[in-house]
Amino acid sequence: MRAAVMQGIRQPLSCTSVPDPKPAEGELVVKVARCGICGSDLHIAEDPAFGKGAGYILGHEFAGEVAAVGRGTQGVAVGDLVSVIPLQSCGHCPACVAGEVAWCGQFGLQGGGYAEYAVTRPNQCIKLPQALSLADGAIIEPLAVALHGIHMSGLKFGEKVLILGAGPIGLAVAFWARRANSWCSLTIPWVAPSGQFPARLTSSTSAWAFLASSSRLSSRCATAARSCCWGCAPGPTHSTVLRCCRRKFA
Ligand SMILES: [Zn+2]
Ligand SMILES: [Zn+2]
Repeated sequence: MRAAVMQGIRQPLSCTSVPDPKPAEGELVVKVARCGICGSDLHIAEDPAFGKGAGYILGHEFAGEVAAVGRGTQGVAVGDLVSVIPLQSCGHCPACVAGEVAWCGQFGLQGGGYAEYAVTRPNQCIKLPQALSLADGAIIEPLAVALHGIHMSGLKFGEKVLILGAGPIGLAVAFWARRANSWCSLTIPWVAPSGQFPARLTSSTSAWAFLASSSRLSSRCATAARSCCWGCAPGPTHSTVLRCCRRKFA
């Protein structure tokens, strides 16, 4: 099969041919249809602390069709369309049965999505209903991360919320918060050269957008970013964004 394979830390991935994966007992092989590029993939590719290197295949936000099942694999069949939960777990220890897979002795992060085929386990597969596409299936994981954040925050229907950062997870949090009928504001730590992005962002997420500079920005960008889309000047820190937010929502 073809796969985008890590060549080493901070090296470009290489699209190359690797052996087709074979499902061991209790495993299955998914023909990958769509796979997201997660921020974690970027961190894994640039930081040896994650323990991955040459030969590893990244990609854990994926969906596809079950192409093969190993001996004793139950719950999924060849041809099923599935979204893969990237938290590797055995599926039958007490922690897994309780839904606390982080405490499973076999816990780890699933990879392999940047390839034509990937091995996983049936307890990590959610069958897609007909109404959802494989592209929808690939975005379930980041949407679940954002929804978990909403639950952890204790946000109640109709409350006001400030979301720090408008990366994919921040935008997904805005998606859920708007469904809770919340007033959202997002901070954007960067600026499109056209200056148009905040307007598009606000219309696509129904969230208000602040521009807040971060330490990563160049000073030119930071100067341009010290404003908010309401015409206030919240300045470079989150506390000033909060003050501006309070004024707007008061
Ligand atoms: Zn991820
Ligand atoms: Zn387990």
